[in-house]
Amino acid sequence: MRVITSNARILALLGNPIDHSLSPVIQNAALRETGMDGVYVSLRCEEQYLMQFMHSLVRSGGGGNITIPHKEKAVSLLDEYSEAVERTGACNTFWGIDGKIYGDNTDVEGFRRALRYFLGESPKGLKVLLVGAGGAARAVLVALLDDGVEDVLILNRSTERAQAVVRLIGGERVRVAESYLDIRDNNFDLVVNATSLGIGLEDKLPVDLSNMGSVGLVMDLVYRTGTTPFVKSAEDLGIRAMDGREMLIQQGSVAFERWWKKPGPVEIMRCALVDTVTNK
Ligand code: NDP
Repeated sequence: MRVITSNARILALLGNPIDHSLSPVIQNAALRETGMDGVYVSLRCEEQYLMQFMHSLVRSGGGGNITIPHKEKAVSLLDEYSEAVERTGACNTFWGIDGKIYGDNTDVEGFRRALRYFLGESPKGLKVLLVGAGGAARAVLVALLDDGVEDVLILNRSTERAQAVVRLIGGERVRVAESYLDIRDNNFDLVVNATSLGIGLEDKLPVDLSNMGSVGLVMDLVYRTGTTPFVKSAEDLGIRAMDGREMLIQQGSVAFERWWKKPGPVEIMRCALVDTVTNK
């Protein structure tokens, strides 16, 4: 039986809202499996209290994850950070070393691993449509460029925000679509939804796949109980598609490694997620 001692490290997900998050499910399953002396909880946190929460967790030997809407604000509260944080301007994982707060953005590696799991090989040479320009889209873009995709077209409701992403991360292989008309009749090997569309039951689709040229594969960062609307729209057209659960697991596994200096047990985390979603 798993024993949580009085020395247990407390890891917390800080964000608002946090009710929908499945991170506690996968992290506590990983802690049970590995026998690490720790607990993982969700704490609803408003921006003005973010610094106090992060400091208190780190000073007591713990750490945690950061989610919507604090990933960018958290960067300004770190003492040291990884290249992934520097390139994306976002932090989703933090921990302490000798009183200092360290941060990483494991969404970058999480997306990379999930995409490889989905493709079964490197995405090198793919032509990609990336829908969205928020924090998650920045992590996706860094991973895609590092893995050698041929080019990325970014489509976002706010074109200015997409242009800002290109200025931050960009390069010759990245372009911004000025409107939805720009993608009509274009062919893409991969379409990634990195918007939050699909979380709400009444949300419209991020793009209409039936109005485009050929699409090879679809990846949705959104996840929910059952199929996401975007994954369903792809599958209805015979396009292979995967939702955001695998990325959740992979970014969580990398975060686990930052805290515990051992790889997160991916298969256990995957099973815990399947059990939770199926039993809801
Ligand atoms: P942000 O709030 O930073 O960005 C939201 C994005 O969605 C923006 O591009 C925004 O466009 C777009 N958007 C929101 N509402 C609409 C709308 N009504 N119509 C068109 N576009 C819209 O969020 P994140 O980037 O942090 O997260 C995006 C999604 O990715 C979330 O659903 C999140 O849960 C998911 N995610 C999943 C992960 C996983 O492990 N599976 C990891 C990280 C995130 P605009 O710029 O114009 O406002």
